[in-house]
Amino acid sequence: MDDVVGATTPSGQVTFACGVAMEVRRQIDVSGIVQGVGFRPYVYRLATGRRLSGNIRNTPAGVTIEIQGPPETVQDFVEHLPAEAPPLARITSFLVREVACNKDVDFRIVHSHAGEEVRTLISPDVAICPDCLRELFDPADRRYHYPFINCTNCGPRFTIVRDIPYDRPSTSMAVFPMCPACQTEYEDPLNRRFHAQPNACWECGPHVDLWDRSGRRIFCRDPIAEAASGLHAGLVVAVKGLGGFHLAVDATNKAAVALLRERKRRVEKPFAIMVPDLAAARDICEIDSAACVALESVQRPIVLLPKKTSCSIPEEVAPFNRYLGLFLPYTPLHYLLLREGAFKALVMTSGNLSEEPIAIDNQEAITRLSGRADYFLVHNREILLRCDDSVVRVADGVTRQLRRSRGFVPVPVFLKNEQPSVLAVGGELKNTICLTKGKHAFLSQHIGDLENVESYSFFNEAIEHLERILEIRPTIIAYDLHPDYFSTKWALQQSGARLFGVQHHHAHIASCMAENHLEGKVIGFALDGTGYGTDGQVWGGEVLIASYKNLERAAHFEYVPLPGGAAAIREPWRMAVSYLAHNFGRNFFRFDIPFVWRLDTHKTDLLLRVIEKKVNSPLTSSCGRLFDAVAALIGIRQQVNYEAQAAIELEMAISSSENNDGYSLDLTPDGENWIIGTRSLFEALISDLQCKIDAGEISRRFHNGLVDAFVRLAGVLRKKTDLNRVCLSGGTFHNVYLSQQLESRLTKAGFEVFTHHEVPAGDGGISLGQAMVAAALAPRES
Ligand SMILES: [Zn+2]
Ligand SMILES: [Zn+2]
Ligand SMILES: [Zn+2]
Repeated sequence: MDDVVGATTPSGQVTFACGVAMEVRRQIDVSGIVQGVGFRPYVYRLATGRRLSGNIRNTPAGVTIEIQGPPETVQDFVEHLPAEAPPLARITSFLVREVACNKDVDFRIVHSHAGEEVRTLISPDVAICPDCLRELFDPADRRYHYPFINCTNCGPRFTIVRDIPYDRPSTSMAVFPMCPACQTEYEDPLNRRFHAQPNACWECGPHVDLWDRSGRRIFCRDPIAEAASGLHAGLVVAVKGLGGFHLAVDATNKAAVALLRERKRRVEKPFAIMVPDLAAARDICEIDSAACVALESVQRPIVLLPKKTSCSIPEEVAPFNRYLGLFLPYTPLHYLLLREGAFKALVMTSGNLSEEPIAIDNQEAITRLSGRADYFLVHNREILLRCDDSVVRVADGVTRQLRRSRGFVPVPVFLKNEQPSVLAVGGELKNTICLTKGKHAFLSQHIGDLENVESYSFFNEAIEHLERILEIRPTIIAYDLHPDYFSTKWALQQSGARLFGVQHHHAHIASCMAENHLEGKVIGFALDGTGYGTDGQVWGGEVLIASYKNLERAAHFEYVPLPGGAAAIREPWRMAVSYLAHNFGRNFFRFDIPFVWRLDTHKTDLLLRVIEKKVNSPLTSSCGRLFDAVAALIGIRQQVNYEAQAAIELEMAISSSENNDGYSLDLTPDGENWIIGTRSLFEALISDLQCKIDAGEISRRFHNGLVDAFVRLAGVLRKKTDLNRVCLSGGTFHNVYLSQQLESRLTKAGFEVFTHHEVPAGDGGISLGQAMVAAALAPRES
């Protein structure tokens, strides 16, 4: 029990005189992320600065404050409280009520007993704050150049938590007892480091070392300076960060970038680059105010930004791409490395082989990265949970998640209604899992592609860890319908929970509905590469009438063969042939276009026989594959080196024009359903190719054509169903041009349009939708 108890009057409305002057007392219940983020010392300062009495204590939902003093001062306190909350706090509800005064004379932080703070929301890992950054470079400060400086407003959290409650013994800081100076700060409610669990200094905290590729320590005065020299010499340095290792090279050094590509076996997929500050970012990319906010946010995601024409970063960093992924330093170690080396930009890519999880442990890094890095800049603060960098895209002032991970996890998505405890295990690629409890949906960090053995064990690790630190024992498990997904197989092996299979595109739309607090039915456009359909075919261009409980397929792209299965995804030319054969039979050989001239006759003939004999050619309605076909046909890309490369490059090719003419698609009724056909589209496109219209123009007409068709379909469905709300979800909506055009055209047509802001539109967001669907399907226990 608490050692201070505030009495509530029966009506809760009473004020009366306490002592000499007229005083009032208020109880304020604050929910959200208000623990472990410096909220109590903040309130303490706010109260003591106004000479108010009372107390603050942690509660399962957040904190409860009682505050007493002259009415106008109390009112002033109440008004300032949410407005000036610490940067990491997130207030989701704030209830004030009057209670009876008592004889408090001072303001106290009431410590609750263990067990009471268990249900707190753990803060994510956040970037170094301006105060700590100033101290880091202040020669007079006792933490001058200390690579692990932090305070309650910044530093590691999620990745160093072993268990709850969140305090030092439950973190990887447990092995570093605080020195007297740190301890004093930790215990002083007026200090910025009051209860900062990772508080440390040169005396007592972790330290940095430089190792060679066999894990031997390199003796040097300053490991960071030595690592910087290595980078200047064109070497690859593995740098231990917050959620794992990065592989770093000097981004302005072409040869070093090429060396890293070769060693990481990453052919063309863009690398992200870290720049020392906003000014350096502005030299490289076009940055508007929304991009500034995203870059400087405490989450410090990688932000995809348009390259400047004068950009001095070699093309090899992000080939065939108009955008670059930029981020600012977020740990003190990053700042020291970038400033020490006076780097303009460093490539900082996850320390792994392509598609494997990021390495976190020093020894693991040596084993897994020894052929890839020349030096290892390590430290002895253990990372307990891997967490990759987050990736966002800013367009038209709106930030959208492409990969929601470090900095955002484990902040929950706040839901409209209470939900049962559900574990949703996500999809196969870009996997995340989701746990719900009450009005919170906790999505995990980016886990990756489960086909990979290491990612699969990370998937297990993440479920176990999140269930433990969030104290959620799910009674319901949701999974994708695809029988071969590893996540599905995992779910089906679980006992003791009720299992619900959720259709992939239903999950996409439900995810969009959940973060927008929608209920009832919506028109949902779920566009992506691949998702298992209820008819066993490969869906991906779906228009649904959906609620959490139900899914009705209202329209979809016509089925075409996916010749060779997965091979057709890696080789977009196969999809181009498939679409041509589907629409024109073997007559397409007569088309006088470069794509046909260049076809290998033997390979094409084989492919056509595979299609005709229906061998290893599942049918697909995928929107992503249509993008692939168009990209191949107009000469942009015949084979891909990473997921969605052809579609990304097709978007990059769009020529700017005020014209919004587009190819038309064929909408044909099929019973209750509508089929979106592509014959007219390909006829017009081929005619454009014969007239030598350039690829940028064709790409624009293709995108506009899709938008037209979707707006027409939405109109048809509104007429039929009376629904006016449209949700847009699926990986295709990472395409900014398509999203913006469709959103604006639908809005003009009077629709209410809902998109993703909190979770990715792609498969990284489907676990949220799976959880919502399963919760709706499971009868509530009374
Ligand atoms: Zn700080
Ligand atoms: Zn210390
Ligand atoms: Zn999907």
